[in-house]
Amino acid sequence: MSSNREWLERSKAAVWHPCTQMKWHEQLPLMPIQKAQGVWLQDFEGQRYLDGVSSWWVNLFGHAHPRIVAALEDQLRQLEHVMLAGFTHEPVVRLSERLGAATGGTLGHCFYGSDGASATEMALKMSAHYWRNRGQAHRTEFIALAGGYHGETLGALGVTDVPLFREAYASLIRRCHIVPSPDARLGPQAAQSSLAALKQLLESSDAIAALIVEPLVQAAAGMVFHEPDFLKKAAALCRQYGVHLIADEIAVGFGRTGTFFAHEQAGITPDFLCLSKGITGGFLPLSVVMTRDEIFQAFYDDDISRGFLHSHSYTGNAMACRAALAVLDLFEEEEVIAGNRARGPKLETLAASLRSHPRVRNFRNRGMIWAFEVSAAPTDFSRRFHQTALARGVLLRPIGNTVYFMPPYTISDDEFHLMVDATHQSLDDVVRA
Ligand SMILES: *Cc1c(COP(=O)(O)O)cnc(C)c1O
Repeated sequence: MSSNREWLERSKAAVWHPCTQMKWHEQLPLMPIQKAQGVWLQDFEGQRYLDGVSSWWVNLFGHAHPRIVAALEDQLRQLEHVMLAGFTHEPVVRLSERLGAATGGTLGHCFYGSDGASATEMALKMSAHYWRNRGQAHRTEFIALAGGYHGETLGALGVTDVPLFREAYASLIRRCHIVPSPDARLGPQAAQSSLAALKQLLESSDAIAALIVEPLVQAAAGMVFHEPDFLKKAAALCRQYGVHLIADEIAVGFGRTGTFFAHEQAGITPDFLCLSKGITGGFLPLSVVMTRDEIFQAFYDDDISRGFLHSHSYTGNAMACRAALAVLDLFEEEEVIAGNRARGPKLETLAASLRSHPRVRNFRNRGMIWAFEVSAAPTDFSRRFHQTALARGVLLRPIGNTVYFMPPYTISDDEFHLMVDATHQSLDDVVRA
């Protein structure tokens, strides 16, 4: 077996692929990938594709980074896994200490899961259970932002505002309160309306347990930015009304917005911080919810039912934790945050030509995210642009009519230039100006 055709046919028959309609693959071929190195994916016939979206935002340092590979090879010879109930190991302890230190020691307790949606579930459960343990069992409701995305398990869907999912699974979902998005494209009044709605909800109900937000960038909504000031004011309202703030940094954590954590830019500390995606650099599934000592202490008791009742088979997997440690090593040793910041103006210059494209609207950049909308785009724009860009050797996957770049931090200037060029040409193909 070695051709693309053979693998895609076998995959269509046996693998149920996510985030798509399988029938579309009658026209839209699957991409069989044989191997990957750096920003490049390679198929079975030697064709290469620049991974402009870090394979769904996870491969922060590209593919097969030798540093992470070496750490995993070493870990593999020592300990691949041990259950975390009643046992512990070096990688999970070191990782928890270092993540805690990255929050300045404020979020010093780490609870692990295997994917982003689980982190959302854990944070929601932890918040409500905290209130129960503190004698406020009526606090069981949550607030989320319009267009917010927090994962697709049933609990996470309750705080995810994607109409398609909402409708299909409405009868299974416990819905939350939604306040308007502070979408910066709509001007400062969007943030004001959002804060006013938030304040009104907090004032009118004592059943709220927490507000959940994606700090600075609502990524799955189409790279919708908001200002740090919104986050700062939302955090102040949460504090004023005594409800938790859950920062879902599953997409934006680990340097994506220009600081190690996005919430740092607002000068706030959330009560719960959810991390996943980039945490292992795309090598292994891992997620974590971090929280502060006072919350941890509310669960610390002789009574089992006051403890946090949650577990996953792979909780704190040693290989995954070791990959995450290698990621943290890379951040420190290669001064990634400072390096990305220093490259900002250069990458901005490389991307600038897109700003003046006649069909490009709202061109925006924050840290290592670039995005824009395409005006008067056809309804099947996303699929067509994706296909056209692939034919030019670049993997980009627009969200509706929003085209975005979320490349690995290791992308070179030349590779970035190539990605911008392919975008220009694909735009001209799909939406002739
Ligand atoms: C991707 C994502 C999730 C869900 O993570 P999964 O690992 O896909 O379950 C949750 N929140 C945000 C902000 C995300 O981007």
